[in-house]
Amino acid sequence: MEQMYESLGISKEVYAYGESILADLKPRFDGIDETAEYNQLKVIRAMQQSRVSAECFNTSSGYGYNDIGRDTLEEVYAAAFHTEAALVRPQITCGTHALAVALSGNLRPGDELLSISGKPYDTLEEVIGIRPSCGSLAEYGVTYAQVDLRPDGSFDFDGIAKALKPQTRLIEIQRSKGYQTRPTLSVAQIGEAIAFVKQLRPDILVMVDNCYGEFVERLEPSDVGADMIVGSLIKNPGGGLAPIGGYIAGTKECVERAAYRLTSPGLGKEVGASLGVMQSFYQGFFLAPTVTAAALKGAIFAANIYERLGFHVVPNGTEERHDIIQAVEFGFADGMISFCEGIQAAAPVDSYVTPEPWAMPGYDSDVIMAAGAFVQGSSIELSADGPVQPPYAVYFQGGLTWPHAKLGILMSLQKLYERGHVKLPQKI
Ligand SMILES: *Cc1c(COP(=O)(O)O)cnc(C)c1O
Repeated sequence: MEQMYESLGISKEVYAYGESILADLKPRFDGIDETAEYNQLKVIRAMQQSRVSAECFNTSSGYGYNDIGRDTLEEVYAAAFHTEAALVRPQITCGTHALAVALSGNLRPGDELLSISGKPYDTLEEVIGIRPSCGSLAEYGVTYAQVDLRPDGSFDFDGIAKALKPQTRLIEIQRSKGYQTRPTLSVAQIGEAIAFVKQLRPDILVMVDNCYGEFVERLEPSDVGADMIVGSLIKNPGGGLAPIGGYIAGTKECVERAAYRLTSPGLGKEVGASLGVMQSFYQGFFLAPTVTAAALKGAIFAANIYERLGFHVVPNGTEERHDIIQAVEFGFADGMISFCEGIQAAAPVDSYVTPEPWAMPGYDSDVIMAAGAFVQGSSIELSADGPVQPPYAVYFQGGLTWPHAKLGILMSLQKLYERGHVKLPQKI
């Protein structure tokens, strides 16, 4: 094994250090495998209940009327997430689009949208109109209010109670920290917040931005009272195989209102050709629990590798996980650059290119990104990025298989080691 790693450029010292870290992680990895096993059974049961057949993998074009593959897939998502209905489509272009459709389909002029997990994901600022933007909810007369999480990352229940107004129609909760430094919310915490809101105001809808959270735990927010959960298929539930897409799973009313927005009033779920992607949607969803487990192991391995070398990591090496994102703060630019070079060099695709910091729209510093993915921009595949500015933190996620995630992290360490940025402890 050591020789095999050496042939890929991992030195004996780096390999040995990695193995010493891994030895302690065995019980946690066993726990992750158990969650994956549970969720795998959940997906298989959903596919069996929905009577998935080879016919479902056929394609449709044009209007896509009576597309049995599309309609059955939506039943599978609903069965797996324990919701009444789901909308799962290649016409949903990304996670932001899925969230925008869910929000604009379920809000009307005069309604207020309330976020109770603080500032929402960057791209939603323009959807909502927090940053003025063409076509935002604000332009359609939907107002926005926000309750920040408390300093320890928990919900501010008093603040939420005070923020509820007669016009509050929909509450948004973002499960994953995304690219913030707050902790990710657990499904149990989300359930408490939903129960709190519903007891005060049963008429309010709750939507959870579930991006990066699917299959990390045994339960999803839809199991604890969310009216809608929303996510991207080029993250966890696409299992790395979906080439595009997003989902909205929830109550029949919520999903239908979203469908009338995605396609058109009057048409709703009835139109939308599946364009040959059904097999990868099904197969990706089937693989998603174990792919998510691989990504989680990678995140925990990276946290422990870098934490024990003295770097600040979020979440830390021992914390419970509720999403697949790992942040590592290097404190100096070449640390994050070396890390990204390592991730790139370990990729199956584009391993020979060197990522470079570059100016990007929407950022005031250069950004470095590493990804050698089969699906462009897919962040369930091993990838890393971050703005090159203090604290020089790199955000790292994904890995379709654990051995690939492991190689990527070891390669990142190799680059730092070769440049003298880290000293490895003597062999234990
Ligand atoms: C990725 C992400 C989104 C947006 O998804 P895109 O596919 O990038 O548009 C929204 N919310 C969270 C928490 C995410 O992680």
